Amino acid sequence: MAGGPPYLAVTGLSGGRVVLSDRITGERFSVAPRLLANCAGPWIDRLDAELGVPEPLSEGTKGSHLVMERPDLAAQLGGAMLYFETHDHRACLIYALDGRMVLLGTTDLRCTEIDGAQCSEEEIDYLFGVLEDVLPGAAPERSQIRFAYAGVRPLPRSDAGVTGAISRDHSFRDIPATEARPFPMIVLVGGKWTTYRACAEQLADRILGLLGEPRRKSTLRLKVGGGADFPAGAAGQAALAAEVAVAGPVGKAQLRQPFARGKGLDQQRHRDADAEGADRARHGVGAVALAGQGREAEGGEEHRPSRGEHRQSQQHGIGFHGVSSCREARRQGRSAAAAPVLSRCRPGLRRS
Ligand SMILES: Cc1cc2nc3c(=O)[nH]c(=O)nc-3n(C[C@H](O)[C@H](O)[C@H](O)COP(=O)(O)OP(=O)(O)OC[C@H]3O[C@@H](n4cnc5c(N)ncnc54)[C@H](O)[C@@H]3O)c2cc1C
Repeated sequence: MAGGPPYLAVTGLSGGRVVLSDRITGERFSVAPRLLANCAGPWIDRLDAELGVPEPLSEGTKGSHLVMERPDLAAQLGGAMLYFETHDHRACLIYALDGRMVLLGTTDLRCTEIDGAQCSEEEIDYLFGVLEDVLPGAAPERSQIRFAYAGVRPLPRSDAGVTGAISRDHSFRDIPATEARPFPMIVLVGGKWTTYRACAEQLADRILGLLGEPRRKSTLRLKVGGGADFPAGAAGQAALAAEVAVAGPVGKAQLRQPFARGKGLDQQRHRDADAEGADRARHGVGAVALAGQGREAEGGEEHRPSRGEHRQSQQHGIGFHGVSSCREARRQGRSAAAAPVLSRCRPGLRRS
C-alpha cells in the first residue's frame, strides 16, 4: 500500500553490507545478511536498485476508495455488500460502514508515483459512474464524500492493455549473490492479502531451501486472521452459509463451496507437492528443502505450498463467485448490474 518510506529503510550497500537508515533519528547502520528477502510491495524495484539490481520487476496500479455520507444507501444495503462487475469488466464493491457512511471502491490505474498516491477527480467520476450503473438513481455528489484514500497495488510488470488483465498472482525471483553483494536475494513480486498465508509459507520454504535449513514448524493447521473463528464442523458451516446467504444469485450451496474447497485443498496439496518439487528441482532452487519433499518433521503433515491453493483462493473466493454471476448474467443478455452479489458482511469475507 502507498504511504512513503518506512522509518527504517534499506538505503544501499556498503562494503558488501546492507545499509539501514533510521528516518527519524538519521542514524545509519549496516548488517551482513546470509540472504535478503525483498518484500517491499510496490517499492521492490526501488529497494532492488539500492542493492545493485537494476531490472524492474513490478508495476503499480493505483486503487482509490471513497467514504461517502449516504445514510439512505447505508439503510438500503443494511449489513449487505454489493460486489459487482463494472462496464470495463472490473470488480467493484459498496457496503455500509455504519448507519451513515458507505465505502465505494475501487479504481485500477497504472501508476508510477508510488509515494503519496491520491484519489483524483477522474477516479471520483469513474466511481460515481459505476455506482450509477449498479444502483441507478443513486445520484452521488462530491459534497457527500467524507474521505478518499488511495493505495498502489504491487503487481508484476505486464504488457496487458487493461489493468484488470494484469495477473494478481504472486511470484518469486531468485537473484544470485555478486561480488559487490555477497548474499543472494529473493524478491516477492505481487501478492494479495487474500493469499498472504500461502505466500508467506512459500517464501519461508524458499528461504529455508536457500539456507539449507529444514522447516521445523508447520502453520498449516493454524487458524489465522479472518479464518480464526470459522466453524470447523459441517453443522457450523451450514449455519454460516445460511447466515451469509440472502436473496440473490449466490445460493447456500455455492456458499458452502469455500468450506468444501478447504477439504479438497488438503488432497490437492499432496498432488501438487510432487509436481512442485519437480519444478523447483528443474530450476535448481531449494535443493535442500527438496530432500524433505515437503514433509513436515513433526506429525508427518504435508506443508509444501500448493499453487493450486493459491490460484483457487484468488479466483474462487466468495467475491469472485459474484463476479462470475455477473458475467453469466451478461452472457445471458441481462445487465451485469442487474446481478450484483449481496453477501452478508463478516470479518474475513468482505474482500477478495
Ligand atoms: C486499492 C487496493 C485494494 C486492494 N484490495 C485488495 C483486496 O481486496 N484483496 C487483497 O487480497 N489484496 C488487495 N490489495 C493488495 C494488498 O494491499 C497488497 O497485496 C498487500 O498490501 C501487499 O502486502 P506486502 O506486505 O507484500 O506489501 P506492503 O503492504 O506494501 O508492504 C511493503 C513494506 O515495505 C516497506 N518498504 C518499502 N521500501 C522499503 C525499504 N527501502 N526498506 C525497508 N522497507 C521498505 C514499506 O514501508 C511497507 O511497509 C489491494 C491493494 C490496493 C492498493
